[in-house]
Amino acid sequence: MQIEVVNPNLRIGKIRSALFDFDGTISVIREGWQEVMVPMMVEELLKTPNHESEDELRAYVRDYVDLLTGKDTIYQMIRLAEEVKARGGQPRDPLEYKREYHARLWRRIESRVLGLKSGQINPRDMVIEGAIDFLAELDRRGVVMYLASGTDHPYVVDEARALGIDVFFGDRIYGALDNYWERSKATVIRHILESHNLGGDSLVAFGDGFVEIENCKQVGGLAVGVASDEIARRGINAWKRERLIRAGADLIIPDYTDPEPLLEMLFPCSRFRSS
Ligand SMILES: [Mg+2]
Repeated sequence: MQIEVVNPNLRIGKIRSALFDFDGTISVIREGWQEVMVPMMVEELLKTPNHESEDELRAYVRDYVDLLTGKDTIYQMIRLAEEVKARGGQPRDPLEYKREYHARLWRRIESRVLGLKSGQINPRDMVIEGAIDFLAELDRRGVVMYLASGTDHPYVVDEARALGIDVFFGDRIYGALDNYWERSKATVIRHILESHNLGGDSLVAFGDGFVEIENCKQVGGLAVGVASDEIARRGINAWKRERLIRAGADLIIPDYTDPEPLLEMLFPCSRFRSS
């Protein structure tokens, strides 16, 4: 991996906990979800009385979906309802939009989940390259790991188990709840720091979305933007890189292959301790 240092004033504290986003950061099971969500929203907006052209809508929807990426899916659906209303339409319940979206997405990803569970698909082929070994390295160094996702909780747990990475997170998996207003990535981060009485600089967050990067920076943590090409599962996706830098990422990585330089950066003394 080629580490890009975005923040020139980077100071790395003693890392004790690591927060990982799930989709796009570790798992590629839901790769392509944007190609399901954006067309569905454009379709809904085209039904409104005062809509723009399809091309304009597509660009507009893509933009707000992107800005909300990392938050619970319901927020994207709440936004859709607002956009329908703003164009003179009669919005449905955001929860209904979410169900519809998930039914469509499921058609695309069901075979991946079933393939993992039946053993026909190797978990290593459904994650960003090197992710599983990287998690094991952090685990070996005693880092307490948290998995936080905007995808509904039961799905995150199920998919993490299908990938065999649930063992690294124990009961520290936080997916979206029905009472979404009670929990967010920001509250998970607060919980991590408060429950262990830790300062923000002991936290590293890995993510491919705006939200986890911003939330991590708000508490003074180290934010690593994972700007992977989700189809190749390695190498930089230029668009992701650009928006992660905009969100405030300190470092950008393309994947988790050859992790030694990153591990040395995060744990400067471990070379001496472990050898
Ligand atoms: Mg993500």
